[in-house]
Amino acid sequence: MEQKLIDLPFVNTGTNRATARRAVKMAVPRCDTCQATGRPNWWEGCEHKPYHIRRKTLVESPVVKCSRCDEVLPDDTLEHCGGQDFEIVEIKRKPQIEVTINTAQAVVDDAVNSGQQVDIMRRKGWKLPQELGISPMCQLSRCYRPNPRVRTNFGDYCSELHAKLVALYLEGESVEIFNQRKMRKQIQSINI
Ligand SMILES: [Zn+2]
Ligand SMILES: [Zn+2]
Ligand SMILES: [Zn+2]
Repeated sequence: MEQKLIDLPFVNTGTNRATARRAVKMAVPRCDTCQATGRPNWWEGCEHKPYHIRRKTLVESPVVKCSRCDEVLPDDTLEHCGGQDFEIVEIKRKPQIEVTINTAQAVVDDAVNSGQQVDIMRRKGWKLPQELGISPMCQLSRCYRPNPRVRTNFGDYCSELHAKLVALYLEGESVEIFNQRKMRKQIQSINI
């Protein structure tokens, strides 16, 4: 039976096309209590969810008033003063705590030894997101888009463009990011 994986909210930390390296996204363990013991492979016995972190995000929520009585209404109000004469008076940003995994990237720079860096990091306790029930992510460095659909023999990518950027890098071609026309030609000429 195929396990249902959870997609993390998509974060793009800015893809730098000039260094379009392949980078496998992995989960990194961290635990103040167990790490301090200096025990080898401490993450194996850690019972404090070492791969999870809490992060504060801001969600935008509209403040709605009833136009008839001028009262600020609770979020779930469907009707007031016998109708739906509502208006949005402002957008408030409310903090919300979100649990996610502590993600980092294992840079794979050699097409031949593609699995190696992942294995090296694994020995430090890093895990693939799939092992934690999280969807895998695009393997272009700094792109964390979940569920990459473009599969190649040099990794899985969210789009043909991201796969081609890595392919160009592996060919030793520097991508002409400041010359759109040249870059388009490069992208068109590379096969994946
Ligand atoms: Zn622990
Ligand atoms: Zn009202
Ligand atoms: Zn991508």
